[in-house]
Amino acid sequence: MFQFDNSYARLPDRFFASVYPEPVEGPKLLKFNAELAEELGVEADFSDPARLAAILAGNVVPPGAMPIAMAYAGHQFGNFVPQLGDGRAILLGEVVDRNGKRRDIQLKGAGPTPYSRRGDGRAALGPVLREYIVSEAMNALGVPATRALAAVATGEQVYRETVEQGAVFVRVAASHVRIGTFQFFAARGDNDGIKLLADYVIERHYPELKTAENPYLALLQGVAGRQADLIARWMGIGFIHGVMNTDNMTISGETIDFGPCAFLDEYDPMKVFSSIDQGGRYAYRNQPGIGQWNIARLAECLLPLLDEDEEKAVEAANAVLKAFGERFQKEWIGVFRAKIGLATEADGDGELIQALLAAMHEGQADFTLAFRRLADAAEGGEGAFLECFADPDKAGAWLVGWRERLTTEARPVGELADALRSVNPAVIPRNHKVQEALSAANYGDFSFFERLLEALEKPFEERPEFVSYMQPPKPEERVTQTFCGT
Ligand code: AMP
Ligand code: MG
Repeated sequence: MFQFDNSYARLPDRFFASVYPEPVEGPKLLKFNAELAEELGVEADFSDPARLAAILAGNVVPPGAMPIAMAYAGHQFGNFVPQLGDGRAILLGEVVDRNGKRRDIQLKGAGPTPYSRRGDGRAALGPVLREYIVSEAMNALGVPATRALAAVATGEQVYRETVEQGAVFVRVAASHVRIGTFQFFAARGDNDGIKLLADYVIERHYPELKTAENPYLALLQGVAGRQADLIARWMGIGFIHGVMNTDNMTISGETIDFGPCAFLDEYDPMKVFSSIDQGGRYAYRNQPGIGQWNIARLAECLLPLLDEDEEKAVEAANAVLKAFGERFQKEWIGVFRAKIGLATEADGDGELIQALLAAMHEGQADFTLAFRRLADAAEGGEGAFLECFADPDKAGAWLVGWRERLTTEARPVGELADALRSVNPAVIPRNHKVQEALSAANYGDFSFFERLLEALEKPFEERPEFVSYMQPPKPEERVTQTFCGT
């Protein structure tokens, strides 16, 4: 089924633990991503659904697989934990996809590993479907993220706050190497391990840096750049990751781990959904600052490789951290310029964007819908835009300034509206719609899940059959808190 070529498993033993998935009682395929399978060159035999489900649940380990749990450490909510590791995820192996890109195939919820600590090694149905929905939505929205190959029911129960159905999520990632992977070796003073890992990720994710004057410094710069870009993209779609711990930040620059993540409804920069984020550390607005903090942790690990002279190494690392802030700012303003339909740069654009966000905050405007309705405003239909605001006066005043700025570009209205609609999605995985899909699935009805996935396939189109997915939640539908729900 998979043409495996397992490069991570060829690294020294201390990088991982070899462990087989623990078979489950009653594997049943819930969803399979045929399009992604095609891209991966994965051949799924639908004529034998029992075997397919058995492979995807971990009951049958397919030929060529070398199942491992990866070792890593990490800062969780600011506290360092020297050993985390894959406690319930098992990397089956790697495939090289049709574009020549190496991708990990991982079973999440595949049973206990040496890193499980007190956990059961399992995943519950709800969080598995949430990760399926949101990761595929991110991809359709053009934001780098891990992908969903399949979701499989285990036929077993898992014990969380309540008894839940068990499931396995088959995740595809550019790799699962995290900032926390570097921290694992740094915490052990294992400089050889750090160097091996750095060489490995340069080869896999940043091959163009091999010939750089200082490849390790270039790697740090590269990761910082990708993370800064990624977080700017999150901000542009109102995404709140929810657990930006260093073990959840990839070296490849893909979004990973969709535990308590959520999307803004009405715009509120301090918004937090996660029930475990008591202090609001990972609030919407804090994400770039945390991203930089996480890069600082990576920089600490790489210090011994940056320069023999410690002072010079620190200086180089500090320059990268400063550059992170600048890169984020540049990306962020680029994302939001496009969101208000600007094709050129002018002084005052930052203020114009901030003024809109302030009006949205004050007017409790739905983040996604208000931006989407700017295209209508551009075409003369200001009403639909103004309706998004509790207090339309501020928004109306903002439109005057916006129009003034647009005259300097003299872009034809049709082109402007198309550009706006190509960056401001009509459909996102709204929290209440995700909740609705998961609740129904828990009762065995997967139709809401399927329909939501369909709606999210073309997020930049307003298709009449999916209008309900574009609407903000009614007061009684609002989701105010998400649970990590591991
Ligand atoms: P997360 O918050 O999902 O990124 O997970 C943080 C750490 O907890 C990782 O090391 C996971 O492998 C581990 N973990 C989470 N849930 C479980 C579970 N049910 N069983 C074992 N380990 C888990
Ligand atoms: Mg994690």
